[in-house]
Amino acid sequence: SAWPESEGITYDELKKTLLSTPDGKKAREWSKYYTAGPHLAGKNLSQAEWTRDKWTEFGVHQAEVVAYDVYINYPLDAGLLLLKDGEVSFKATLEEDILDEDPTTSLPDRIPVFHGYSANGNATGSLVYANYGTFKDYEDLVNAGIDLKGKIILVKYGGIFRGLKVKRASELGAIGVVMYSDPGDDGEITEENGYETYPDGPARNPSSVQRGSCQYLSFAPGDPTTIGYPSKPGAPRQSVDGKIPDIPSVPISYKEALPLLKALNGHGPNVSSFGDDWQTGGLQYKGIDYNIGPTPDSVTVNLFNKQEYVTTPLWDTIGVINGTISDEVIVVGNHRDAWIAGGAGDPNSGSAALNEVIRSFGKALKAGWKPHRTIVFASWDGEEYGLVGSTEWVEDYLPWLSGSTIAYINVDVGARGPHFTTSAAPVLNKAIYEVTSQVPSPNQTVPGQTVRDLWSGHISTMGSGSDFTAFQDFAGISSIDVGFGAGPKDPIYHYHSNYDSFYWMDTYGDPGFEYHITIAKIISLLAAKLVEEPIVQFNATDYAYGLEKYLESVKSAAAESTLSADVPADPFKKIEEAISYFQEVSIEFDAKAEKLEQLLNSDVSVKTKSKLYKAIRGLNTKYKFLERQFLHGAGLDSRTWFKHVVFAPGRWTGYAGATFPGLVEALEDHDGEAVKKWVGIITGRIYSAGKLLLEK
Ligand code: GLU
Ligand code: CA
Ligand code: ZN
Ligand code: ZN
Repeated sequence: SAWPESEGITYDELKKTLLSTPDGKKAREWSKYYTAGPHLAGKNLSQAEWTRDKWTEFGVHQAEVVAYDVYINYPLDAGLLLLKDGEVSFKATLEEDILDEDPTTSLPDRIPVFHGYSANGNATGSLVYANYGTFKDYEDLVNAGIDLKGKIILVKYGGIFRGLKVKRASELGAIGVVMYSDPGDDGEITEENGYETYPDGPARNPSSVQRGSCQYLSFAPGDPTTIGYPSKPGAPRQSVDGKIPDIPSVPISYKEALPLLKALNGHGPNVSSFGDDWQTGGLQYKGIDYNIGPTPDSVTVNLFNKQEYVTTPLWDTIGVINGTISDEVIVVGNHRDAWIAGGAGDPNSGSAALNEVIRSFGKALKAGWKPHRTIVFASWDGEEYGLVGSTEWVEDYLPWLSGSTIAYINVDVGARGPHFTTSAAPVLNKAIYEVTSQVPSPNQTVPGQTVRDLWSGHISTMGSGSDFTAFQDFAGISSIDVGFGAGPKDPIYHYHSNYDSFYWMDTYGDPGFEYHITIAKIISLLAAKLVEEPIVQFNATDYAYGLEKYLESVKSAAAESTLSADVPADPFKKIEEAISYFQEVSIEFDAKAEKLEQLLNSDVSVKTKSKLYKAIRGLNTKYKFLERQFLHGAGLDSRTWFKHVVFAPGRWTGYAGATFPGLVEALEDHDGEAVKKWVGIITGRIYSAGKLLLEK
């Protein structure tokens, strides 16, 4: 319900505008603009300025470009050779095929295949196949007596963040890593299953390569030379040791992985003799046995990598719609930079959608809408290298953000298929269920179906891999990430490849740009709900029950690990007590919020109303600061930038979230003292959250 003194247009009228304005033709136009050429971090000033000018034209109150000086790399040269008895038996092109149908693939200034933050080097060694290169995969190799020292490692993409595949390989003495996209991870839509490959059909183009950052993401995102503070000109710079790889790596296609995989045939154990995690990939039909190696001394791989490291400006575009309440702010962001010339899915489906969101709010402003809270829109640069633009901005504006921000809404890949996906801090669960129930689905099997009707309702735990990380894990701002993803029967999305192009999107990904405008509507309605409803639309009870669920999963993980003797008999009991206290308090608090809302909607005197507003302001401040209570100033033991005691990216997953990470890591490390310490810290934070809600 709207504030009674709403001026200009009502909340209902606002929602109507937000639902009716987004237009597929416009989204297509924005997509075409953003994907017309390279826009790598630090090389997209014209796009940052264009975005600023568009937002101004749409009607935001202010828009500006904010620069940071960050340490990143650009590719100079790379090579990959297979050598037999000293002769070159295969030389990789390290290029994706040029396709007549897809003009993006032949741009003269297209970006070579390379890894962000990869190490320079020229390494030669026998080859070992390491599955997905997870911590456990490498452990399995070591346990099987396969020495990784001096070896070149061949790994499949998938499962975990790519930088961590390199990190563990380096720790075990490997000298280089080659990463490829195995079609066995492409679901049903494969060449082997009879589907034509892109551009003739929906299957993966065999020459497609996934670029991407190899920064040690789970250590800290952002500029690795300024962890914890903004990369302003003149800022002190830290050493990058231990934060980015020290051995070279290069990404390749499955077409170019074939000769390497073939060289492994007949050498060392077969994956079938390893555990369940080790399945054969999807290239058996091409004669690949999936042997682990190593290849004999006479068969080696030479990997050469030359990167230019620079400290260079990058550009975030920031737009503001001022609300009447200045210390209650919602931030909505998407990154603009892409690894490739296109980037129609990642990130510019989100960028096109965000433009439609802002155009819709602008239309409402022109119709007289007076927003209650403030909305800040962000077009981040440098996400791809390691969430650099967003992290530097959060570090820069931390005091203001901590004092004023209620929530952060992120959209990265807005559309690459028909399946709604989200991860969120639990206080936002209720809001996203409500909003998705108000947005029609483009794919209706029964007329009138909403996005909610076609969505399983699964909300993932906050992990990392996109720009919500600094908000959620460093600043303690309740965050949500939304987008439409692809399932196992949908056209293959060529992630970080030249084929994530406008032509692919227009032909296979989202013809008509219907999902682009649908994600725009979801973001708009969610932002409107959070800025216009008198009571902040959070639910504390969902957080409290979320904590219980998270603790359950930690418990079952811990049951598999044997703890050292000095760990308290039941390290979870104290946390359980704290959670049940928090549950009780939250239920009461949410009920109070509901009651205030009912009163506000009932026929009460003006005097009572103004009293109600005061009470509501107090209540909203508590919702705002609830997430902040879960911050532990000193951070996690081995990665102090991460301050949240409930959420962090997993140490060895990167993307997938770990819950109660401090405790989990102490358990994994069999460190009884640390377990006790973290039980204390976590319990303290949960009680503090409960007390905040109770306070008068
Ligand atoms: N989203 C990008 C990726 O997955 C960047 C993630 C990161 O470096 O944190 O490669
Ligand atoms: Ca920094
Ligand atoms: Zn992205
Ligand atoms: Zn990306």
